[in-house]
Amino acid sequence: MSALASPTRFRASCPDCRATAELEARAFRLALGRTKERTFYSFTCPACGVAVRKPAGERIIDALTGAGVPTMRLHVGAR
Ligand SMILES: [Zn+2]
Repeated sequence: MSALASPTRFRASCPDCRATAELEARAFRLALGRTKERTFYSFTCPACGVAVRKPAGERIIDALTGAGVPTMRLHVGAR
């Protein structure tokens, strides 16, 4: 697949320093858990460097996966 001129960017706000940044899809990670509570996306804030983790709704999941964000499946084993 050939990349378009400008890569997809997403706005992300940092709860720590309150900066809003536009990050390329590759800056995000998506973790799919078995429940909504365990499904989240994460990125590193370019302003303060903190690792941000936020719950991901269906629309966010669609947008991120559609943009090629690496997806990590979380398998929660029964204990
Ligand atoms: Zn920040």
